Amino acid sequence: MLSGFYNDGNRTFDTDTMTKSFWIGIIIIIIVSVMGVFYQKYLSIHHCAYDGSAVTAIYEVDIVLNDGSVKKFCSIYCATKWFKINIQVVDHVIVTDEIRGNKIDSYMAYFVESDLITNKTNNNRIHAFQQRQHAQTHAKKFNGSAIDDPFEIDE
Ligand SMILES: [Zn+2]
Repeated sequence: MLSGFYNDGNRTFDTDTMTKSFWIGIIIIIIVSVMGVFYQKYLSIHHCAYDGSAVTAIYEVDIVLNDGSVKKFCSIYCATKWFKINIQVVDHVIVTDEIRGNKIDSYMAYFVESDLITNKTNNNRIHAFQQRQHAQTHAKKFNGSAIDDPFEIDE
């Protein structure tokens, strides 16, 4: 019963410990937020919304949804897989021109299916080009043939 009185003597010690933990906490928060900013600025990598692999800028496919949000994909293969099951929420699809890296609406792009694989994990063989000439050159070089826009939305 008396122990409560003796504990009073320890209060200053507890306050010191709490002040120390408080400052250590603040320092940890500062370090974590600085690292977070650094990560977002220099190391941020987008992951494919279908299979989770890293998205390479030159093969990136963006599916823009009706609500304005964007899903990123590592390849046309993954994007078409996702597209087929979510077509009702898709507004439009943006593909990357393999030659110049330009982002273009899928209905304006030329698609070629060829022997050249862009992504070893899913064997993507579909390529997108902004220029018809580039698509034809690619088809000739890699035994490919022109295919329709795989992201056609029937309305
Ligand atoms: Zn993918």
